[in-house]
Amino acid sequence: MEKIELYNGDITKLKVDAIVNAANTSLLGGGGVDGAIHRAAGPELLIECRRLNGCLSGQAKMTNGYLLPASHVIHTVGPIWRGGHQHEPELLTSCYLECLKIADKNQFKSIAFPNISTGVYGYPKKEAAQIALTTANSFLTKHTYPHIVLFAIFDEENLNIYQKLMSLND
Ligand code: ADP
Repeated sequence: MEKIELYNGDITKLKVDAIVNAANTSLLGGGGVDGAIHRAAGPELLIECRRLNGCLSGQAKMTNGYLLPASHVIHTVGPIWRGGHQHEPELLTSCYLECLKIADKNQFKSIAFPNISTGVYGYPKKEAAQIALTTANSFLTKHTYPHIVLFAIFDEENLNIYQKLMSLND
Protein backbone atom coordinates (compact mmCIF):
# COMPACT_ATOMS: atom_id res chain seq x y z
CA MET A 1 0.00 0.00 0.00
CA GLU A 2 2.86 2.39 -0.76
CA LYS A 3 0.60 4.99 -2.41
CA ILE A 4 -1.74 5.16 0.58
CA GLU A 5 -0.86 7.31 3.59
CA LEU A 6 -2.47 8.23 6.85
CA TYR A 7 -2.73 11.83 8.05
CA ASN A 8 -3.82 12.33 11.63
CA GLY A 9 -5.65 15.64 11.72
CA ASP A 10 -8.00 18.14 10.16
CA ILE A 11 -8.63 17.47 6.46
CA THR A 12 -9.23 21.19 5.78
CA LYS A 13 -5.51 21.87 6.33
CA LEU A 14 -4.35 19.62 3.50
CA LYS A 15 -2.85 21.10 0.34
CA VAL A 16 -3.87 18.41 -2.12
CA ASP A 17 -5.60 18.44 -5.50
CA ALA A 18 -8.87 17.41 -3.86
CA ILE A 19 -10.26 16.78 -0.42
CA VAL A 20 -13.40 14.68 -0.15
CA ASN A 21 -16.37 15.94 1.81
CA ALA A 22 -18.68 13.50 3.62
CA ALA A 23 -21.75 15.54 2.69
CA ASN A 24 -25.49 14.93 2.92
CA THR A 25 -27.87 14.66 -0.04
CA SER A 26 -28.72 18.38 0.00
CA LEU A 27 -25.05 19.39 -0.43
CA LEU A 28 -25.97 22.49 1.55
CA GLY A 29 -23.65 21.91 4.47
CA GLY A 30 -24.04 20.18 7.81
CA GLY A 31 -22.09 19.19 10.91
CA GLY A 32 -18.89 17.19 11.31
CA VAL A 33 -16.38 17.29 8.50
CA ASP A 34 -18.96 18.93 6.18
CA GLY A 35 -19.29 21.93 8.52
CA ALA A 36 -15.52 22.19 8.92
CA ILE A 37 -14.99 22.19 5.14
CA HIS A 38 -17.65 24.86 4.53
CA ARG A 39 -16.23 27.06 7.31
CA ALA A 40 -12.69 26.79 5.96
CA ALA A 41 -13.66 27.21 2.29
CA GLY A 42 -15.81 30.30 2.89
CA PRO A 43 -19.29 31.23 1.61
CA GLU A 44 -18.53 30.81 -2.09
CA LEU A 45 -18.51 27.04 -1.62
CA LEU A 46 -22.15 27.05 -0.57
CA ILE A 47 -23.06 29.23 -3.56
CA GLU A 48 -21.51 26.68 -5.94
CA CYS A 49 -23.08 23.76 -4.02
CA ARG A 50 -26.55 25.30 -4.42
CA ARG A 51 -26.20 24.99 -8.18
CA LEU A 52 -25.53 21.22 -8.01
CA ASN A 53 -29.08 20.16 -7.09
CA GLY A 54 -28.00 17.78 -4.38
CA CYS A 55 -26.35 14.38 -4.67
CA LEU A 56 -27.53 10.81 -4.21
CA SER A 57 -25.99 8.44 -1.70
CA GLY A 58 -23.04 6.66 -3.31
CA GLN A 59 -22.50 9.44 -5.87
CA ALA A 60 -20.02 12.35 -5.98
CA LYS A 61 -19.85 15.90 -7.36
CA MET A 62 -16.91 18.30 -7.52
CA THR A 63 -16.54 21.99 -6.71
CA ASN A 64 -13.69 24.44 -6.32
CA GLY A 65 -11.85 24.64 -3.01
CA TYR A 66 -12.10 28.44 -2.63
CA LEU A 67 -10.25 29.48 0.56
CA LEU A 68 -9.06 25.94 1.30
CA PRO A 69 -5.45 24.98 0.64
CA ALA A 70 -6.90 22.13 -1.45
CA SER A 71 -7.77 23.08 -5.04
CA HIS A 72 -11.04 21.16 -5.17
CA VAL A 73 -13.66 19.53 -2.99
CA ILE A 74 -15.29 16.29 -4.10
CA HIS A 75 -18.59 16.00 -2.26
CA THR A 76 -19.87 12.48 -1.73
CA VAL A 77 -22.83 11.21 0.26
CA GLY A 78 -22.16 8.15 2.38
CA PRO A 79 -24.89 5.73 3.39
CA ILE A 80 -26.62 6.05 6.74
CA TRP A 81 -25.99 2.79 8.64
CA ARG A 82 -29.30 0.96 9.00
CA GLY A 83 -28.01 -2.43 10.12
CA GLY A 84 -26.04 -3.44 7.02
CA HIS A 85 -28.74 -4.91 4.77
CA GLN A 86 -29.77 -1.69 3.01
CA HIS A 87 -26.88 -1.75 0.51
CA GLU A 88 -24.62 0.14 2.91
CA PRO A 89 -21.38 -1.66 1.84
CA GLU A 90 -22.11 -1.17 -1.88
CA LEU A 91 -22.98 2.49 -1.34
CA LEU A 92 -19.86 3.17 0.72
CA THR A 93 -17.68 1.40 -1.88
CA SER A 94 -19.32 3.50 -4.57
CA CYS A 95 -18.51 6.73 -2.67
CA TYR A 96 -14.79 5.94 -2.64
CA LEU A 97 -14.86 4.71 -6.23
CA GLU A 98 -16.74 7.69 -7.67
CA CYS A 99 -14.36 10.14 -5.95
CA LEU A 100 -11.33 8.23 -7.26
CA LYS A 101 -12.82 8.23 -10.76
CA ILE A 102 -13.21 12.02 -10.63
CA ALA A 103 -9.59 12.33 -9.46
CA ASP A 104 -8.43 10.06 -12.30
CA LYS A 105 -10.45 11.91 -14.94
CA ASN A 106 -8.97 15.24 -13.81
CA GLN A 107 -5.44 13.81 -13.50
CA PHE A 108 -5.22 14.75 -9.83
CA LYS A 109 -2.01 13.60 -8.19
CA SER A 110 -3.35 13.68 -4.64
CA ILE A 111 -6.70 13.15 -2.95
CA ALA A 112 -7.60 13.05 0.74
CA PHE A 113 -10.58 11.22 2.21
CA PRO A 114 -12.25 11.58 5.59
CA ASN A 115 -13.71 8.44 7.18
CA ILE A 116 -16.99 8.68 5.26
CA SER A 117 -20.16 7.65 7.16
CA THR A 118 -18.32 6.79 10.40
CA GLY A 119 -19.51 9.89 12.28
CA VAL A 120 -23.17 10.84 12.58
CA TYR A 121 -24.12 8.26 9.90
CA GLY A 122 -23.04 5.47 12.26
CA TYR A 123 -21.21 3.06 9.92
CA PRO A 124 -19.10 0.57 11.96
CA LYS A 125 -15.58 1.94 11.77
CA LYS A 126 -13.65 -1.25 11.09
CA GLU A 127 -15.94 -2.34 8.26
CA ALA A 128 -15.83 1.17 6.79
CA ALA A 129 -12.01 1.24 6.95
CA GLN A 130 -11.78 -2.13 5.20
CA ILE A 131 -13.93 -0.83 2.36
CA ALA A 132 -11.93 2.43 2.13
CA LEU A 133 -8.55 0.69 2.01
CA THR A 134 -9.58 -2.14 -0.34
CA THR A 135 -11.27 0.21 -2.78
CA ALA A 136 -8.37 2.69 -2.84
CA ASN A 137 -5.74 -0.04 -3.12
CA SER A 138 -7.43 -1.79 -6.02
CA PHE A 139 -8.06 1.51 -7.84
CA LEU A 140 -4.42 2.59 -7.46
CA THR A 141 -3.12 -0.63 -8.99
CA LYS A 142 -5.24 -0.09 -12.11
CA HIS A 143 -4.95 3.67 -12.72
CA THR A 144 -2.18 6.26 -13.12
CA TYR A 145 -4.10 8.93 -11.20
CA PRO A 146 -4.28 9.72 -8.36
CA HIS A 147 -0.65 9.09 -7.41
CA ILE A 148 -1.37 9.24 -3.72
CA VAL A 149 -4.40 8.67 -1.52
CA LEU A 150 -4.40 10.20 1.95
CA PHE A 151 -6.79 9.10 4.66
CA ALA A 152 -7.40 11.98 7.05
CA ILE A 153 -8.15 10.43 10.42
CA PHE A 154 -9.74 12.57 13.08
CA ASP A 155 -10.30 10.17 15.97
CA GLU A 156 -8.16 7.68 17.83
CA GLU A 157 -10.39 4.68 17.19
CA ASN A 158 -10.15 5.14 13.42
CA LEU A 159 -6.41 5.77 13.68
CA ASN A 160 -5.86 2.46 15.49
CA ILE A 161 -8.04 0.62 12.99
CA TYR A 162 -6.29 2.06 9.93
CA GLN A 163 -2.80 1.50 11.37
CA LYS A 164 -3.62 -2.12 12.10
CA LEU A 165 -5.22 -2.82 8.73
CA MET A 166 -2.36 -1.14 6.85
CA SER A 167 0.32 -3.05 8.72
CA LEU A 168 -1.48 -6.32 7.90
CA ASN A 169 -1.40 -5.42 4.21
CA ASP A 170 2.24 -4.28 4.01
P1 ADP B 1 -20.97 11.21 8.27
O1 ADP B 1 -22.27 11.94 8.33
O2 ADP B 1 -20.60 10.77 6.86
O3 ADP B 1 -20.84 10.15 9.29
P2 ADP B 1 -19.29 13.03 9.89
O4 ADP B 1 -18.77 14.36 9.47
O5 ADP B 1 -20.25 12.96 11.02
O6 ADP B 1 -19.89 12.39 8.54
O7 ADP B 1 -18.08 12.07 10.21
C1 ADP B 1 -17.24 11.50 9.24
C2 ADP B 1 -15.81 11.40 9.79
O8 ADP B 1 -15.18 12.67 9.67
C3 ADP B 1 -15.74 11.02 11.26
O9 ADP B 1 -14.79 9.98 11.40
C4 ADP B 1 -15.27 12.31 11.94
O10 ADP B 1 -14.45 12.03 13.06
C5 ADP B 1 -14.43 12.92 10.84
N1 ADP B 1 -14.18 14.38 10.93
C6 ADP B 1 -14.91 15.36 11.55
N2 ADP B 1 -14.33 16.56 11.35
C7 ADP B 1 -13.20 16.34 10.59
C8 ADP B 1 -12.16 17.17 10.06
N3 ADP B 1 -12.14 18.49 10.24
N4 ADP B 1 -11.17 16.57 9.33
C9 ADP B 1 -11.17 15.24 9.10
N5 ADP B 1 -12.11 14.40 9.58
C10 ADP B 1 -13.12 14.95 10.31
